[in-house]
Amino acid sequence: MTLQPQPRTRTALVIGGGIAGATAALALRRAGIEATVYEAYDSTADGIGGGLTLAPNGLNALDAIGTADLVRDIGSPMTAIVLHSWNGKQLAEFGTPPGVAPMQFVWRTELYRALYAEAVANGVGIVHGKRLVRAEQDGEGVTAHFADGSSAGADLLVGADGIHSTVRSIIDPAAPQPRYAGLVSFGAQVRDSGLASTEGRTLMSFGKRAFFGWWTTEPEGTGRDGARRDGSDRDGTAVWFANLPRTEPMTAAEAHAVGAEEWLRVLTTAFADDRSPALDLLRRTDPADLLITGPMESMPEVPVWHRGRMVLLGDSAHAASSSSGQGASLAIESAVQLARCLRDLPQHQALTAYEQLRRPRVERIIKAAARTNSNKTPGPVGRVVRDAVMPLAMKLVKPEKMAWQYEYRINWSEPVPAPSTAATGARTGSAAPASHSA
Ligand SMILES: Cc1cc2nc3c(=O)[nH]c(=O)nc-3n(C[C@H](O)[C@H](O)[C@H](O)COP(=O)(O)OP(=O)(O)OC[C@H]3O[C@@H](n4cnc5c(N)ncnc54)[C@H](O)[C@@H]3O)c2cc1C
Repeated sequence: MTLQPQPRTRTALVIGGGIAGATAALALRRAGIEATVYEAYDSTADGIGGGLTLAPNGLNALDAIGTADLVRDIGSPMTAIVLHSWNGKQLAEFGTPPGVAPMQFVWRTELYRALYAEAVANGVGIVHGKRLVRAEQDGEGVTAHFADGSSAGADLLVGADGIHSTVRSIIDPAAPQPRYAGLVSFGAQVRDSGLASTEGRTLMSFGKRAFFGWWTTEPEGTGRDGARRDGSDRDGTAVWFANLPRTEPMTAAEAHAVGAEEWLRVLTTAFADDRSPALDLLRRTDPADLLITGPMESMPEVPVWHRGRMVLLGDSAHAASSSSGQGASLAIESAVQLARCLRDLPQHQALTAYEQLRRPRVERIIKAAARTNSNKTPGPVGRVVRDAVMPLAMKLVKPEKMAWQYEYRINWSEPVPAPSTAATGARTGSAAPASHSA
């Protein structure tokens, strides 16, 4: 009997037009695969979501597909993180490890705009108002069904639909769901903040009752050529974020229902005893500008990443808490690696190779971030212990030890070898039944 040659992937449906989805569509096009993005929301994410930091490894991954300059054009370099105790005492300063490029702060809106423009310029179709509700697959292909009654078909379906992924539950109905991480997050931009320049550093304070971070945006950070993108002068503009411990779980909708003015009052009380610019920045924050990011969530290990013609990507597979500063960068890395694997291997092997390449790395980073979250939610006793132990512990943390996170590089032109069969076992979804549980 002759074995049928395994099919290559020619077309892909990318569900979700966030960072993972937009990057995946671009990378798939570079790999010669026709990709269309289906996004639930009616419009792009303009104006939504504040800012985020892209780590050097995320930029390296964008470099692999020739798009990192998009980010450098709109980013501001972040050279160090400085940690303080509630009383203003500096606990530690982490610079970028030697030989590693600095992180880049970007506004989400600007990042989406840049990625979408690049994707469209490269022939990617982006369709809005398409919320995936179910999918079915057979030997010929996979069909996505949307809430508006329409459907679309392709060789592969990529679930880039975020931490509350629908695709994850379709692939594995027993898949774990996100867990509330005990913190509610907020942020804002304050023009004319009166703060001295933080010189490219992010300052953070483990406050008595909540965690606060702030920095000033630098005019020279607004583009590689120093040009200001929108003509606005960002001198003196500060950005802050806060993580407020809260035992009772809360949905994003419930957090919004509380209202900006009430949250500003709650935060003012929470930071009342701290020596940081928190109170001043809260006072200068217009309630209309308060970004209620909502509950911070952590995602337990996702046991099944792919089944048949469906695969997970980005937060749907590996949501690192925002404390890691790595969620977007890991999503970008995974998008590029998935495209390489699909370029070089038949689909079934490609999805297995993708998981083998990605799972150990993302899970190591997620574990490290979970430890950071626990430092942000100590009780009164834990706080005293933390403040006593942390300066010593921080002395032992060498930036070089973090280099493994940041130095990761993908060689786009290097062919991906067929996956090893020994390690694929129970965790690879292609072999796993739909009911596989954690
Ligand atoms: C407060 C906060 C701060 C953060 N800060 C950082 C940071 O500084 N650095 C960093 O690297 N990461 C940060 N992150 C994490 C980072 O934002 C995520 O890891 C990253 O955005 C993941 O991208 P994604 O495309 O996988 O998911 P998402 O960005 O969530 O995108 C998923 C997309 O899928 C769409 N969608 C959902 N369901 C469906 C459906 N059924 N059908 C069609 N479309 C659907 C959604 O509308 C959305 O557009 C932060 C996260 C938070 C919450």
